[in-house]
Amino acid sequence: NKSIIFMKRPKDYPVAGEHFVFQHTELAPTLEDGDILTRNLYLSLDPYLRGRMDGVEGAYVPCFYLGNPFNGYGMGEVIQSKNPKFPVGSIVFGIITWEHFSHIPPAFNNLIILPAAVRDSKVPLSWYMGALGMSGLAAYGSLKLVANLQPGETIFVSAAMGAVGHLVGQMAKRQGLRVVGSAGSDEKVRILLEELKFDAAFNYKSGKPIVDSLREACPEGLDIYYDNVGGEHLEAALEVLKRHGRVTACGMIDDYNRLVPYHIKNLVLIFQKRIKIEGFLCLDFEKEIWPVFTEDVTKWLLDGDIVCKEDIVVGLKNAPDAFTANLKGRNFGKGVVKIADL
Ligand code: NDP
Repeated sequence: NKSIIFMKRPKDYPVAGEHFVFQHTELAPTLEDGDILTRNLYLSLDPYLRGRMDGVEGAYVPCFYLGNPFNGYGMGEVIQSKNPKFPVGSIVFGIITWEHFSHIPPAFNNLIILPAAVRDSKVPLSWYMGALGMSGLAAYGSLKLVANLQPGETIFVSAAMGAVGHLVGQMAKRQGLRVVGSAGSDEKVRILLEELKFDAAFNYKSGKPIVDSLREACPEGLDIYYDNVGGEHLEAALEVLKRHGRVTACGMIDDYNRLVPYHIKNLVLIFQKRIKIEGFLCLDFEKEIWPVFTEDVTKWLLDGDIVCKEDIVVGLKNAPDAFTANLKGRNFGKGVVKIADL
């Protein structure tokens, strides 16, 4: 077997070959009762995995331990089973190890079986890593249950060409909002405007202060900031938000690779403008909305109402490099690693 093993805790950006390493590993020769063996197909590249490398015990997700395989959301096919709930041939989705083959005992088995129809459906399997996976669930669930969108409002989405951001923008647009996005290159901004039909977008790396770009993009003020970034983006949004504006706090990627967190200087505006900030974790509503989320988003994608942008890297050995490159902004849409064909 080949696996990505977690070797060393990074201080800033993780480096392939140093912090996580592609290497040969042994598979147990037989399965015990309750075990399954999966042949892994896809991995989802998610920024929260960076936090798990820090080794903080008791955080909202368990940390990684040195010497163990990396793990995260992914998809595999059950090829051996001593667990009647997971027959051979099932396509499973959930937390899997970053390996060609995963030997999964019952205690670590939180997988769900995808419907048999996925084998010959019009829906590409990779969509279950993005728009139909945790990124889509975060976007759909937070807009439905947290953000309280009202038609005619203006929403600003940061990391807008990322997995969550590009879906949030399109979903908000479907609901009649004016959508503004920021991203780290002119080409990302072009796609936001031309392909994804954002109303306004700017390159936050252009050299202009983010607050100035945001003000220009929101001449009538800002109702909602959908925060994927934190840092200077959050600071700028607090300036531009209207009185009683809202922030839906999805993530703070600006913080994940910094030795010293960015110091937000205008938190006083939260009470002065009566701004409401609400964070969420998609795990909070996963069970509650999974069926309706899957049904709605599958329909929107197949009808062409929204587009699922993907950035697919082929080969397990390329996963560490792709993970770090995406943290630095390489990906357009959902970062996925394809390990094998079904
Ligand atoms: P992606 O990996 O798809 O995209 C992240 C993008 O963030 C990068 O491509 C980069 O694009 C941008 N970025 C990186 N560093 C910075 C920075 N310092 N300032 C501004 N932009 C930056 O991420 P996701 O869409 O999967 O995740 C987005 C956020 O949502 C993350 O914070 C993540 O942790 C969070 N999240 C939260 C969930 C929840 O349940 N609350 C669920 C899923 C994700 P660019 O070129 O624009 O810089």
